[in-house]
Formats: sequence, structure tokens, C-alpha cells
Amino acid sequence: MAQANKQDVILRGLVCGGEVSLAVAETTQLVNDAIRIHGLSALSAAALGRTLTAAAYMCSSLKAERGALSVTVKGGGVGGNICVSGDAALHMRGYIDEPQAFLPPNARGKLDVGGCVGHEGTLTVVRDDGDDRPFVGTTPLVSGEIGEDFAAYFAQSEQLPTAVAVGVKIGKDGTCLGAGGVFMQPMPGAGEESFRFVDETIGKFANVSSLMEEGSAASVWAAYFGGEAMTARRPVYKCNCSRHYIEGLLAALGEGELRSILAERGKVEVHCHYCNTDYVFGPQDVEALLLARKGEEGAQRGTDE
Ligand SMILES: [Zn+2]
Repeated sequence: MAQANKQDVILRGLVCGGEVSLAVAETTQLVNDAIRIHGLSALSAAALGRTLTAAAYMCSSLKAERGALSVTVKGGGVGGNICVSGDAALHMRGYIDEPQAFLPPNARGKLDVGGCVGHEGTLTVVRDDGDDRPFVGTTPLVSGEIGEDFAAYFAQSEQLPTAVAVGVKIGKDGTCLGAGGVFMQPMPGAGEESFRFVDETIGKFANVSSLMEEGSAASVWAAYFGGEAMTARRPVYKCNCSRHYIEGLLAALGEGELRSILAERGKVEVHCHYCNTDYVFGPQDVEALLLARKGEEGAQRGTDE
């Protein structure tokens, strides 16, 4: 329970005399929320948690206030696909097709995330910087271990070589004990020495989840890089669905389609994968929705005339 009072954070700043952009992320609560919402096995929690961590880092780089991005990892592993979305406010959400994936530990005695995700596939990022022309980048997966896959994505798709270490540690009781990541991106024009520093330093974070369990993002920053970060922002698990939003989707289906679903099943059900919530609309709810819709259309016609 020592983790209960710790808050997630993404620290960012410059190191190596301003030549390297550094981010240290602590995402233990984010992963615990995902475990609670989806009922994840240790392996599924590690795979989704690493992806949530890398995506939260990417969200912290979004330029516009209303920017958003989504990440899809399709690797053909036992866990199926992983989808994560987030926005510039660092409201994160995600799911993995198989929440109860299981594999024996890998050769190093660790959770076999590479086997869970698989590596015969792609990592796709759709990033909307708020100018309505989303950037879409896809790169082949390297190992399915997520960290290497994001590193390859940054280098190939965004031409921003970035060293990535992400990790999730799950306890015997199934909760996340520590999760986080370290991201180092040499700035344009960075010297050879800075690149060497990045290469040599990233290897120290193979156990980044244990570092977060024992300490914090701030203690990791101080111990490995010295000084303090320039910005600290808090990622949270938050879905953007609501009953009102779902009503809009249903209205778009049209009256005929809604009535035929009602006739067949007696109710209309919509499931949100991101927060594992079922929205149920009974016959009365659907009638009210259609009536409200007709009222809106009538009002619109009224103003047109
Ligand atoms: Zn939702």
C-alpha cells in the first residue's frame, strides 16, 4: 500500500548542456487503473502498461492544447492487438484484446511481453496536432517488447532518434508495484558526445519499473541526471466517453436501424472498450432519444426558414 499516495508524473527537461531532451515518466497508478478497469493478467498488464507509458510520453510532446493521438500495436502475439489513446491533457485510455493473456516467463525470467505482443506486425500512430490534418506513421515491430518498437518508430517514422526504456512490475497480488519510462532524444545539432551519453545511459534503465517501485521519477532524475526537471505533468486514466456521446452515435445510426435492433434484442447496448463500460438503452430511452433528435431537427429547420 506504500504506492497509494504516490502520484504519476512525466518530468521533462534538457540535459547534456541542452543537447538532449529528457523525459522520465512514472505511471504506476495509470497501470493500476488499467488493471482494475480491465481485470488484466500480469502479462497483459505489462504489455498494455508499457504502451500506455510510451503513449503518455508522446502526448506530453503534443503541440496544440487540443491535440490527441492514438497508438495501435498489432503483433500477432497471444495478447492480440493493443490500442491506446490520449490527448494533450494527458488523459490516457487503452485496452488489449486479450486481458487475461498468459505465457511462461521468458529466458531472462521476466514477463514475456514480446510473446504477448508478438513481432510480426506494425506499430501505428495517428497524431492530431490540432490542425485537422492528422499525421499517420507506421513502422514494423522489432521485438514486441514495446520499448524497442517505439524507438524504431521514432527513428523511422518521425526521424527523431529516441532512446526508450519502459517497464512495468507486477506483484504477486496482481497489482502494479512500479511502472515508468525514460526517453532521451538528442536535439538537432547535438554533438557526438551527447549521442554517446544517450547510448550509454539508456541501458541503465532496463529495470526502470524497480526504480519507480523503490523511488520516484524525481529521484531517478536526480540520481542519474542531476538537477531538476523543467516541467512536471500528471497523466491520468480517463475515458472520453459519456452517455451523451453514445446517444450522438446512436442517433447517427438512424431511426430505422435503432428500431430494428430494439425489435430484435429488446434494448440497444453499446460497449466502450477503453473503459469497459456498457451503455444500455431500453425502449423508453430510445424513444426519448428519437424524440429529442426530431425536436433538434425541427428547431434547425425553423431557423433556416
Ligand atoms: Zn469509455
